[in-house]
This record gives sequence, structure tokens and C-alpha cells, in this order.
Amino acid sequence: MTEQVATNIYWHQSAVTRSDRERMKGHRGFTIWFTGLSASGKSTLAVALEATLYDKGYHTYILDGDNVRHGLNKNLGFSPEDRKENIRRIGEVAGLFSDCGIINMTAFISPYREDRMLARSLSSEERFIEVFVECSLEVCESRDPKGVYKKARDGSIKDFTGISAPYEAPEKPEIHLNTDRQSVDECVNKIIGYLITNGFIPC
Ligand code: ADP
Repeated sequence: MTEQVATNIYWHQSAVTRSDRERMKGHRGFTIWFTGLSASGKSTLAVALEATLYDKGYHTYILDGDNVRHGLNKNLGFSPEDRKENIRRIGEVAGLFSDCGIINMTAFISPYREDRMLARSLSSEERFIEVFVECSLEVCESRDPKGVYKKARDGSIKDFTGISAPYEAPEKPEIHLNTDRQSVDECVNKIIGYLITNGFIPC
């Protein structure tokens, strides 16, 4: 956990609580944390899932890896330390969105188990759903929508997950998808089924 630097700071309680916000919206706030190799389908699934949830009348937001690296995390690279800080900040932001009563989806490779555990610990356990977007390296590399595997292979991108940096697969994700065998619709339906069965959304 990052060390607390500032002193003499105190938590100021709001008059409006998370429960109040959730009651107003008519649903809970929680995080759907997608993790998997680059090109496994995290962003594609987050976008498709968000569209489905939006159509059902739910309040949603996507925190996408590349987008966040354009702003909040533009000063971070891909070393293990920077990846850790990247995930810590996103975990904090995701927790804030949940507190707002918003269904938030994060699409980050988040390759290290310890960092994902940290993100989970920044939300309450019952508001964090880890989705393992599994897809073989061969299929990810053949998709390569951003051309990054090609660059990783020729050495122009260093520390690339799956090629020159490790990916630690989740041991007990709440949801496990295989995007080299399941279509986008099948994956979205599986997530929606989980959310309904486990009382995250009513229908
Ligand atoms: P990531 O966010 O994990 O880096 P992207 O969503 O950017 O991955 O890219 C995944 C690519 O794989 C997209 O071009 C998408 O159309 C394709 N794709 C094929 N089948 C699937 C599937 N079942 N789920 C998600 N993406 C898929």
C-alpha cells in the first residue's frame, strides 16, 4: 500500500451517502475489473457491456487503459513500479465511481496478481468483480488491432506483457471468459447473467 505522506488530514463525511445515491439511481455501484493480455478483448467487451447496461437504464462508465494513460496516468510507463502505480490510481478512481453509485468497468492488462488484489482492496469486496479475459497469445498476436505485438517482437516496445513481461493469470476470478472460443455476445451475456444471479442488477 502506498505510504501516507500528508499529515493533519481528516476524513470529512458527506451528508448524502452511497445508499442515498444508489437509491436515486435504482441500482448499486460496483466495479467490473477486466484483466487479460493486450488484444484479449477487454476494451471491446467493456464497450459492448456498457451499451447493454445503458440500454437497460443503468448508469455506467468505462475506465480504459490507453485513455487513462493520456491523462491521469500520462506520467507513468510500463516498468513494474509504474504499472503498480497505474493500477493503484485506477483502483482508487474505480472505488470513487462505485461510491457515486455508478457501474464502472476497467479495461487494463493489470498483469500482476498483487496489484489486482490491491485494486480489489480499494473497493469493498462485494463491489469488485474480476473478469479474466483469457485468450491465447497466438490469437491475441494474430488480432493485434493496435500493431503492438509486431513492435514488441521487433524489440521497439520493451516490457510487453506476454512477450517480454509476465502475465499472472487470476486464480479465482468471479467470471472467466475465453474470447478465442466465445463470441462478444456470449461473453456479454455471461457477465449479465452473473450480475443478475448475484443481485448486482435486477434484470
Ligand atoms: P484489449 O482491450 O484486451 O487490448 P481490444 O478489445 O482492444 O483488446 O481488441 C480485441 C480485438 O479482438 C478486437 O479487434 C475485437 O474485435 C477482437 N475480438 C474477436 N473476438 C472477440 C471476442 N470474443 N471478445 C472480444 N474481442 C474479440
